[in-house]
Amino acid sequence: MFYVKENINDTVEVKVELNDENVFCTCHDCGKEVSVDLSVVFADGMGDMYGTAVCCSACSKKRMEALK
Ligand SMILES: [Zn+2]
Repeated sequence: MFYVKENINDTVEVKVELNDENVFCTCHDCGKEVSVDLSVVFADGMGDMYGTAVCCSACSKKRMEALK
């Protein structure tokens, strides 16, 4: 199990398990919140936690159209 851990204060620590429903990022182009399945993002072995950008479906579509 992977989880994030955050100390709220000196006595309270919160651990939240990461799964395919509770990981989000903001769209690289428009800033919209995007649900992310990390197993898919990193499936090709090329992604990393800092350099990988994710776009929402609308912005992904725009980028694909621009490549045509
Ligand atoms: Zn977007």
